[in-house]
Amino acid sequence: MNVTELYRRFNMNKEEFFPLVQSLGFAIGERAIKVDDRVAQQVIKAIEDWNRSQKKKSIFAEEKTEVKEAPKEGAKTIAIPEKITVKQFADALKKPVTEVIAVLMRNGIFATINEDLDFDTASIIAEDFGYVPQKGEAFEKEKSKEQVEKLERILAGKDQGALRERAPVVVVMGHVDHGKTSLLDKIRSATVAEKEAGGITQHIGAYQITLQKRAITFIDTPGHEAFTAMRSRGANIADVAILVVAADDGIRPQTVEAIEIMEKAGLPFVVAVNKMDKESADIEKVKKGLSELNLIPEDWGGKTIIVPVSALKGTGIEDLLSMVLLVADMNKEKIMAAPTGDAVGTIVESHIDSNIGPVATVLVQSGTLKIGDLVVVGGVPGKIKAMKNWKGEQVKEAPPSMPVQILGLKAAPVVGDVLEVTQDKKILKSKTKQYESVAFLKPQQAAKEKGKPQLPIVLKADTLGSLEAIVGALKQIDQEKVSISVINKGLGAITENDIVQAEAARGVVMGFNVDLTPGGQELSYSTTAHIEKFKIIYELLDAVKARAIERLQPIKVFEKIGEGKVLKIFKTNPRSQIVGVHVEEGSIKSNAPIKILRGDKKVGEGYIGQLQSDKKNVGEVTSGSDCGIRFDGDPVIQEGDYLEVYEIKEKKQA
Ligand code: GDP
Repeated sequence: MNVTELYRRFNMNKEEFFPLVQSLGFAIGERAIKVDDRVAQQVIKAIEDWNRSQKKKSIFAEEKTEVKEAPKEGAKTIAIPEKITVKQFADALKKPVTEVIAVLMRNGIFATINEDLDFDTASIIAEDFGYVPQKGEAFEKEKSKEQVEKLERILAGKDQGALRERAPVVVVMGHVDHGKTSLLDKIRSATVAEKEAGGITQHIGAYQITLQKRAITFIDTPGHEAFTAMRSRGANIADVAILVVAADDGIRPQTVEAIEIMEKAGLPFVVAVNKMDKESADIEKVKKGLSELNLIPEDWGGKTIIVPVSALKGTGIEDLLSMVLLVADMNKEKIMAAPTGDAVGTIVESHIDSNIGPVATVLVQSGTLKIGDLVVVGGVPGKIKAMKNWKGEQVKEAPPSMPVQILGLKAAPVVGDVLEVTQDKKILKSKTKQYESVAFLKPQQAAKEKGKPQLPIVLKADTLGSLEAIVGALKQIDQEKVSISVINKGLGAITENDIVQAEAARGVVMGFNVDLTPGGQELSYSTTAHIEKFKIIYELLDAVKARAIERLQPIKVFEKIGEGKVLKIFKTNPRSQIVGVHVEEGSIKSNAPIKILRGDKKVGEGYIGQLQSDKKNVGEVTSGSDCGIRFDGDPVIQEGDYLEVYEIKEKKQA
């Protein structure tokens, strides 16, 4: 064999090859051109062995350095990067997010689930949880990146041939009060066909409309926090966004924030300039504001699509939706999914119903979800028992882009959690983690606490972070006397549904930084459910405590209302006496409880059975008069005794 052939085989040059083979014990000179084939085989084997030993060595070397850097056994260390989100931090601490948010709050830091903590803050909190903080990379970030990539792979479809067009999914973002909820409500009602108009539509967190024979799915939790929450765990759920800007208010801080989020997510959007019906509407000002943010309107030579609308009057809605479809068409290749196979989806709404338990809305993103499917959602296992669409109709299957409310999960998942179908019970089991911490109240638990007065709460908040913080804080309230339970929670304005639910459960609706939808507002005038709105968490918590106290049975207090002296005993029966009394103070009332005093010693007690004045039955006799009393109780009264008369008053427990 040629020597050149030999060293090329090992990707070596002459200078590397000869010293090596010589060191391995072969007498091959540097000028050798050919070697005997038998020798060549020996050389090959020797070099292969040597290579293997080198590899082993290097693996060993790595292990050594790793061992050197690893924390001491038993020490609970945590690697914290320069920045870490509350969610990632909670994952790293292996604690529920609510608990971490609660500890942060106790330390005077109010951070929402997706907000970043800096190293110093996170270190202090980590120490509170008993960890030794170390500077490090966000390993959890990597993990979640992996998960997202996996999800994106699934969503891209294993079999490209099976990909089909699906309905675009739309989110609505923009500054508070610019009309996001109104617009979503209008789109929903404007596109419901006449015959369906009488039907009861349900707020399940998303709905699907048909326009120009094409379906469009809307996530009906407005606001970018909701969008961020939904994106936090999984892949993008939305295909197109509608940025709502009020024509009378222009670009505001949350408008800018929404633009940043959309740009970061690569989410195409259409601008809806709302409230065009208002006299103070100034669309040119909005266009100018957008241009300053580098979003040049089409009619100014740019690419930003702007549609004037009025959510109130319903004008411009069709144009807006046509533009949404146009933008969807421009991104056609991304709005595809495989309709066959096991479903994968994202949770867009989740709550616990006091009667039926955990209820969640999932937006199917790939495959088809079917009744009977075994699923796992963020560690929560389940079997799909029933599915409903937003019109409240039972459905058996949900293809991509279809939002459905599902029953059958063992606990309420978190918005943004990914739902996966698995046919394999073993996989289901392995993916199931302790899910009790997610479900803050199970129906059975509620039933168990039946003996106690209940305060059921429907909780609505503007952000997932505040929602979770409030739920966490509510759990800290002393519930020894009254059991406080969040029967439903969600993001966005207070809807009719929320009120109906609270009323049915004899509960209250508590809103944090949210308003009522127009429908909710109307219902609020006639409902018996108590509705309260807050802008400060502590005030909301105080109100909950006050409402809880109201649920307590009032305590009975005895208040002295009068006193009389016994002048004469007319008759003594085994369980009663007829006596004559002079009222000296206050008044004496029939049916009132009394104490019998001899000197300053109490000798007995009972009730005034009957009260007579001038031989007539009366209800009350006042000071200065004489009266006849039938005393009901042990007959211990003697002449000269004093009767103290009381009234029972109910007093709220504190
Ligand atoms: P969100 O906070 O962005 O969801 O805003 P809402 O939908 O709750 O609307 C805020 C307020 O603006 C409400 O009082 C609405 O009635 C009002 N509003 C919404 N759209 C319009 C509109 O097109 N015209 C007028 N005049 N008022 C509107």
